[in-house]
Amino acid sequence: MGIYSNSKLGTFDQCKYKFRLQYIERIRTGVRSIEAFMGTMVHDTLEKLYKDLQSSKMNSKDDLMQFYLQHWKNNWTEDIVVAKEYANAEMYQNMGVEFILSYYDKYHPFDQLKIIGVETNEKLELNNNNKYYVKIDRLAADEKGNYYVIDYKTGGTIKSQEELDQDRQLAMYSIWVRNNYPDAKNVKLVWNFLAFNEELSSERTPGDLSKLKLEVEDKIIEIETCTEFPTNKTKLCDYCEYKFMCHEWVGKKKVVGKGIKKQTLLNDFFPK
Ligand code: SF4
Repeated sequence: MGIYSNSKLGTFDQCKYKFRLQYIERIRTGVRSIEAFMGTMVHDTLEKLYKDLQSSKMNSKDDLMQFYLQHWKNNWTEDIVVAKEYANAEMYQNMGVEFILSYYDKYHPFDQLKIIGVETNEKLELNNNNKYYVKIDRLAADEKGNYYVIDYKTGGTIKSQEELDQDRQLAMYSIWVRNNYPDAKNVKLVWNFLAFNEELSSERTPGDLSKLKLEVEDKIIEIETCTEFPTNKTKLCDYCEYKFMCHEWVGKKKVVGKGIKKQTLLNDFFPK
């Protein structure tokens, strides 16, 4: 029996060596990318917005900005990696400010849908007693009985409709929604691409979801019977927390991005 998540399956598909370090050897480096850090700060701010709304508290833009900037300061550590040569932490912080303010202007007073849940912490039952972690940024419903699985994206790329129609994460979450909210007439998958201030959506038929669940269960069997964990060197290595200890990169000129305490980390893993 195991608990699986979209990122665990995604890591297995991205690089089996990274999967081994992260999920089998459970090595925790403490290294975070600035993109992931900024994403967490923005998500936490929108979580506060909607959780407060659940208790009828409307935050102003200033309230949210104050929360975001203080939250950033409280959680910032020097090991956060800024991999892009031309970037710095302040640029990312400002990007987060823009995302939140644009979102606020577009959706205020946030009464388009009824809030059902924020940052859910649930599990979908799979076969062989496995479970799939269900962490929905926001679950909402309209008056017609449609449910909405809403996800915020803080990355710099936007997905095509074709990619969204194939997306695994929100579709798996929607299976849990259908199981737990039998009144749901339909479950829509919604992505808020904050860098583009754009909302895109997709839908699945019950047949699509049955097929997807079987695919995920097959993927879990593949993971549990896997014995070889080769590296997979791609541009995503720049955002990998294990890059500084990965044999594809260690000893080469550019091991990590600026901002990381490379020597400290290397000393931990390769003591003299
Ligand atoms: S740096 Fe690249 S190849 Fe090495 S573990 Fe990370 S993702 Fe895999």
